[in-house]
Amino acid sequence: MDLDVIVIGAGLTGLACTLRLQQGGLRAGIIEAADRPGGRIATDQQEGFLLDRGFQVLQTWYPEARQLLDYAALDLRPFYPGALVRVGNRFHRVSDIWRHPERLPEMLGSPIGSLGDKLRLLALRRRALQGSIADLYARPEMTATRLLDELGFSQRIQERFFKPFFAGVFFEPDLAVSSRAFEFVFRAFALGDTALPARGMAEIPRQLSTRLLPDSIRFGARVERLLDGEVLLDSGERLRARAIVVATDGTEAARLLGVASKPMRGTTCFYYAAPRPPFDGPDLVLNGTGHGPINSLLCPSNLSSAYAPAGQSLVTVNCFGTDADPETLEPPVRVQLRDWYGEAVDHWRRLAVYRLPAALPVQAPPVTAPARPVRMKDWLWVCGESMAPPSIHWALSSGSQTAEALIDALQSERLAERP
Ligand SMILES: Cc1cc2nc3c(=O)[nH]c(=O)nc-3n(C[C@H](O)[C@H](O)[C@H](O)COP(=O)(O)OP(=O)(O)OC[C@H]3O[C@@H](n4cnc5c(N)ncnc54)[C@H](O)[C@@H]3O)c2cc1C
Repeated sequence: MDLDVIVIGAGLTGLACTLRLQQGGLRAGIIEAADRPGGRIATDQQEGFLLDRGFQVLQTWYPEARQLLDYAALDLRPFYPGALVRVGNRFHRVSDIWRHPERLPEMLGSPIGSLGDKLRLLALRRRALQGSIADLYARPEMTATRLLDELGFSQRIQERFFKPFFAGVFFEPDLAVSSRAFEFVFRAFALGDTALPARGMAEIPRQLSTRLLPDSIRFGARVERLLDGEVLLDSGERLRARAIVVATDGTEAARLLGVASKPMRGTTCFYYAAPRPPFDGPDLVLNGTGHGPINSLLCPSNLSSAYAPAGQSLVTVNCFGTDADPETLEPPVRVQLRDWYGEAVDHWRRLAVYRLPAALPVQAPPVTAPARPVRMKDWLWVCGESMAPPSIHWALSSGSQTAEALIDALQSERLAERP
């Protein structure tokens, strides 16, 4: 590789960064430890099923995703805007009434929260949609639960809706996350669809990687150390470039840069082959009962038939954390599933269980959006999760913005070098 820029990591951050660098005329290539692009966004194939690695979705509102991705080619399949929430011994539908006004009477009558709570949702929506993203991240910060308390939401709606829904997004059962991160995610749910690509989440990084110049990614090569303007690979090989961009996950970035890493949150997901789906629609099911190991459940094959072979359905069950051994966790999961869906569950066959201890960094306050790209040394730039909040939007945006800044910097340095 004879490169102007070496990017470390072919997750969404590194892919977006490299794509923009190449569009700007720089010779940029990626060093990637794994054997495929996408990092934490992955889809495994098993017996004709598509298993996204953990419960992941694309929020179509994400401004950077709209810029960079071809949504039509991803053939996006939206979830119903809202959720089916298990409370007591039945499911209740929560709907986004801006998109489904006909559901208003049902929403007003549901036991998920009081009438006042439903009016407060209007206030929260107005607040979360106000101003730019930068304005949102500049607001006074508190935990999401404190914000909900201050806005007057009852414990009932917090326990039955906000916690199961948003705690599932952040992998934080108590929702002790930053109010800024919470409002950002609320905005994403309010202004766009929550969707899966028809052939699995891995289509997102695949689409980006196919737009890079041929042979731009060197797979199976792990960067062991950063040297002065060089990377040292595990193999002992050294590679030099004018600039090096660290675009790895936060933990690995911290190791390479010699700084402290952020604590991470995890999730455990069970995947079942079912002869029939437990429900028909493109719904997300939430556990609003306040007990049992399940956080949420979905049936991806209800959204896209590519997720399961003909005549079968895929059911994905998501639980918080990774402390429990999956073999110990599964029996109570099955008890809860049987309580919800009856004996049919006995015919569900476990396909896989994924234990993902380092899914997302803890998002307790303070959470700030990057003010500008980070150049740590003349030759060293850092982007991604160690510098920005986690999410598909921030990964793409931090990669692209770092590339823009790097292009400008190298161009002006080249001009300055001219006699
Ligand atoms: C289970 C789960 C669910 C999620 N759900 C959502 C969601 O619904 N919506 C959303 O917006 N976001 C979600 N996220 C977050 C989102 O997926 C991530 O924020 C984003 O994909 C991070 O991309 P990245 O490129 O910054 O990091 P990564 O995806 O971690 O990519 C880093 C890459 O760097 C490589 N690498 C690391 N160290 C080295 C090294 N030393 N040398 C060479 N290569 C190296 C890794 O192999 C990897 O490919 C979820 C994440 C998980 C895990």
